[in-house]
Amino acid sequence: MPELPEVETTRRGIEPHVVGRRIRQLLVHDRRLRWPVDPGIATAIAGRVIQRAGRRAKYLLLETDAGTLILHLGMSGSLRVLPASTPRIVHDHVDIELDSGQTLRFNDPRRFGSLFFTTGDPKSHPLLRHLAPEPLEDEFNADYLWKITRRRAVAIKQLIMNSRLVVGVGNIYASEALFRARIRPRRQARSLTRQECARLVRAIKATLTMAVKVGGTTLRDYVGADGNPGYFRQKLYVYERAGKPCRVCRQPIRQFTQGQRSTYWCANCQK
Ligand SMILES: [Zn+2]
Repeated sequence: MPELPEVETTRRGIEPHVVGRRIRQLLVHDRRLRWPVDPGIATAIAGRVIQRAGRRAKYLLLETDAGTLILHLGMSGSLRVLPASTPRIVHDHVDIELDSGQTLRFNDPRRFGSLFFTTGDPKSHPLLRHLAPEPLEDEFNADYLWKITRRRAVAIKQLIMNSRLVVGVGNIYASEALFRARIRPRRQARSLTRQECARLVRAIKATLTMAVKVGGTTLRDYVGADGNPGYFRQKLYVYERAGKPCRVCRQPIRQFTQGQRSTYWCANCQK
């Protein structure tokens, strides 16, 4: 499933191809995404210029002079920039044809993706209005993590993966960030010290930033997300490394199941 770094990589990948471009036409080949695509979008968006390619959580925002397209890649969606004449393949559901002769093509085998259009402020759209802070923005800081952990007995790993508290910290990045912060995944959230909160915030930001950087530089022809962490995998400290030596202390990495997801950690490095 595309996580925040993959979506940000996609945003950076498509940005130079779409910003400043006029939309020639939007073609919906199959409306049956997670929610049916409104056929009226095509009329609303035709002839409009894309002014900005933004992102909020895992939503891509294509802002035009008439309104904003809100696109979610779902579980299996990807975007590719192709010459508009490229024959479609199976699961190519939407084309956003540009005046450059290229098309932004959305492919989604499992159809959990979605496409909406809003003429208002996209951040007030029902899908985006109640989203928690972005992990890479300043509002996600040690004070904030300190505050939200005080009364919560839940394990810290599950807390940082709770999208009502902070968006976009998926399973891989949660395990990695806790290793970097030297905090055990099962610790009760409220047991973290102020200093540990600060360390964990820094670790989350560093982990996600590196994932975006690596995704952006090694997946050159990939402007979409295939769900794989790509070359980031080679740099992982603990994720899917059960039994292998810790890169810091050489003790074997351990694994257990937490909230139905695999968690990886080093019993020696993490307290
Ligand atoms: Zn270790």
